Amino acid sequence: MRGFAMRRIGEVGWVTREKPRPGPYDAIIRTLAVGICTSDQHTVYDGPLGELRLIMGHEAVGEVAEVGSEVKDFQPGDRILVGAVTPDWRTLECQRGWHQHSGGMLGAFKFTTTKDGVFAEYFHVNDADMNLARLPEAIPLESAVMVADMVPTGLHGVELAEPAFGAAVCVIGIGPVGLMAVAGAALRGAGMIIAVGSRPVSVEAAKHYGATHILNYKEGDIAHQVAALTGEQGVDAAIVAGGEKGGQGLFQAIRMTRPGGTIANVAYFSTGDTLPIPRADWGLGMGHKTIKGGLMPAGRHKLETFLSLLEFGRLDPARLATHVFHGMENIEEAWHLMRAKPADLIKPVVIY
Ligand code: NDP
Ligand code: ZN
Repeated sequence: MRGFAMRRIGEVGWVTREKPRPGPYDAIIRTLAVGICTSDQHTVYDGPLGELRLIMGHEAVGEVAEVGSEVKDFQPGDRILVGAVTPDWRTLECQRGWHQHSGGMLGAFKFTTTKDGVFAEYFHVNDADMNLARLPEAIPLESAVMVADMVPTGLHGVELAEPAFGAAVCVIGIGPVGLMAVAGAALRGAGMIIAVGSRPVSVEAAKHYGATHILNYKEGDIAHQVAALTGEQGVDAAIVAGGEKGGQGLFQAIRMTRPGGTIANVAYFSTGDTLPIPRADWGLGMGHKTIKGGLMPAGRHKLETFLSLLEFGRLDPARLATHVFHGMENIEEAWHLMRAKPADLIKPVVIY
């Protein structure tokens, strides 16, 4: 079968592989649609994980092609969603409540880091009964594929930030992840929702998803702009979904948050050995500002719960799919488009 892979740091291309086989608890999925993610671009072009030579891609919807002998709930032909994160549910880390880190730190993020990803004709999913989610017929592929990663990650930023009703929240970065954080903050009852970005396509989408104020990081220091908007109070929570370079997004989030506030990071810091904390704005170490950072949550129950937001009309991520390609071979063009991030792009999707 064909796949689109990392060849070495900074280089991608098509490869040929054997079709994967399932172990007793696993499934093989025939890919129907994929999304291209910024995280894969960090992995390939910044090389934080080394020279992987794996098939890229971790956002997919598909059809079950084959199941192992112990899989009970799914059978060939089922239309399913797979999370970017596929934990090993029989682990102590899961018992402790941290499925994202089953098998070690970030261990559940297997696609593209320790095994081939989904930019292939078929791919392998461990623990199928726990990691596949049933896809309601009514949800179109380009919306469903956003629930593999963009919806869980953006909403996880909000889960970490825990805004109270009426809280002031700032979302730093309004690519597809930040936009879902804006939508999530609105769903969770935030009051003022400040969105930080520059490209008009994202700005319009942020307003659509519930931003009450927009700030452009290219037009001056965003912590100062937030101070001006909030009567020098700052926000209750800042969600970081952009500004990875030099840890700028995190640095600004700490600056703009009130004493006692929460900084919730979901960005992937792929370069540098350390991240900056502004000493004075962190209250000289005593400001009661909590810094959290998390990999997206997944697993069947969580994904089916997120899908119910789409099914019952609470959240429509279709707007993120600004560029929809038809035909697997277009992964290559979509990949380079995601790297170039032209002004009209939020997220490319490829329907096989
Ligand atoms: P994008 O690159 O599409 O969006 C980034 C956003 O950040 C844009 O709105 C951009 O503005 C804005 N931005 C860039 N520089 C700055 C800056 N200095 N200050 C403030 N804002 C800035 O990213 P995605 O939405 O695709 O992904 C966001 C992050 O989430 C990435 O690091 C990605 O790897 C990570 N990620 C993490 C996951 C997890 O499980 N935690 C899962 C998936 C992704 P503009 O372009 O408008 O100028
Ligand atoms: Zn991703």
